[in-house]
Amino acid sequence: MSELIVTHKYNRNVRHSVHTRIADIVIEMANTLMDYWPCGEDYPMRFGVNSNASGYSTGGGSNYVVNISDHWATAKKLTEYASIAKKPVIGSISGDNETVLKAICAHEVAHWWHHSRLREEFGARWGRHVSRKRGSVDAPHGSRWQAIYHDLRYMFVNPETRGSNPWHQDIGYESDDLLITDWLESKSILTVLP
Ligand SMILES: [Zn+2]
Repeated sequence: MSELIVTHKYNRNVRHSVHTRIADIVIEMANTLMDYWPCGEDYPMRFGVNSNASGYSTGGGSNYVVNISDHWATAKKLTEYASIAKKPVIGSISGDNETVLKAICAHEVAHWWHHSRLREEFGARWGRHVSRKRGSVDAPHGSRWQAIYHDLRYMFVNPETRGSNPWHQDIGYESDDLLITDWLESKSILTVLP
């Protein structure tokens, strides 16, 4: 059974309560992804919260980082990259802080998971095996990342659908609903879902 191995990087400028609030969100999302693809591998994650006022956050990378700016602990809007800003489900989102904070966490966890899966598929030097060019499926904000982000937004973030996933069955999840993207068919879900 695979395990999530989280290394916490505490920032003295970030309140402990903020660190743990964001860690809880990130770890729940990561565990959900891992539950769906039990593969026997452990997944490292170096988690941290920074105090960069611009909101600079990052996910993935060669060190399997998820680092979220504490800016998002109070933000009310997330403006997504222009290429996806207007897309349904994964586009820009505004509303209560909980929603917006979870959206940025989902964005970065999706990068982390994308990279983790590539490592599993190709080994530590996966960068030599996949194209990261714009338009390729494994581009940083390409279709595979979008598919993962889509599922996290659907399950945990967007007010219309969150809680409706297989791990929260009390809300009336239907198994026919498209949730958790098939890694190999990551393109299709974006066209099937509204
Ligand atoms: Zn990104």
